[in-house]
Amino acid sequence: MSYYNDKTVIYLNGSFVKATDANTDLYSQSLHYGYAAFEGIRAYKTHNGTRIFKAKAHFERLKRSCELAHIPFTWDIDQLIRETYKILSLNNLNDAYIRPLVFCGANMTLSAPKSVSIMICAWEWGAYLGHKQLKVGLSSYQRPNPKSIPIDAKISAHYVNSILATTEATKNGYDEALLLDMHNNVAEAPGANVFIEKNGKLYTPPLGHILPGITRATVIGLCKTLDIECIEKVLSVDELKEADSAFFCGTAAEIAGIESIDGVKYPVKWPDSVGATIQRTYKALVLEKQNYEVII
Ligand code: PMP
Repeated sequence: MSYYNDKTVIYLNGSFVKATDANTDLYSQSLHYGYAAFEGIRAYKTHNGTRIFKAKAHFERLKRSCELAHIPFTWDIDQLIRETYKILSLNNLNDAYIRPLVFCGANMTLSAPKSVSIMICAWEWGAYLGHKQLKVGLSSYQRPNPKSIPIDAKISAHYVNSILATTEATKNGYDEALLLDMHNNVAEAPGANVFIEKNGKLYTPPLGHILPGITRATVIGLCKTLDIECIEKVLSVDELKEADSAFFCGTAAEIAGIESIDGVKYPVKWPDSVGATIQRTYKALVLEKQNYEVII
């Protein structure tokens, strides 16, 4: 997949520059130590034009990630949202994935950054249909101990854990991994949160050992609208395996049904699951379709 070409424009520290002209310092703390914060945002082509879904929530999380990691964040969020819409229009993008990254300048010490930059890039990302259900394997890797690193921040270095888990899962023939936390309770996927369905109710792990997903919060909100009971509680591996159905959710994954865990299939067929209802409703929401409750 090619993320840019010689016409692509990115936003870098207040300017719009060609991706092929932009560069960074090889002595950057971010490159050497993973000391950076980022976001993953989606834009959708809706009948109201190109719309960035939950733009403010994402940039606010970026700011909070920086604060939790002691990386200075000096930018105005509304301004960054305007610049992001400009990036989309300069690159003629409608359905797109947007990647803001706050990164640090040259500093080989383990002390506070000497300088901080922001870049925002975007590339085309067609609508994910979400028809394929995932074969998921429980990972031998755990999510990091929240006392070793602020797990609720989207820090670049955390994603080594995610890459290890996904690589292991695909090597073992699974589509994706599911990681437990340090207490061996269900945590999250390498880049998505998880929900299970049991007796018509949804359950999801509470905050504490997971990234507070913006899609997760959206799903919890949709449950209120749809009058589906949704409970945040610590989930054991047994509860995960004895569920009726399950799904991942995230900006990139949207709502993705899980077919099986460690080869054991969920008994409720995806189209009959609560997750499938959430999937249809979520899609209507991001596409700004009117009366989305009535469509289901
Ligand atoms: N957990 C992790 C580890 C993630 O990387 C992501 C993707 N940002 C999520 C959950 C889902 O978060 P969101 O819904 O905000 O994309």
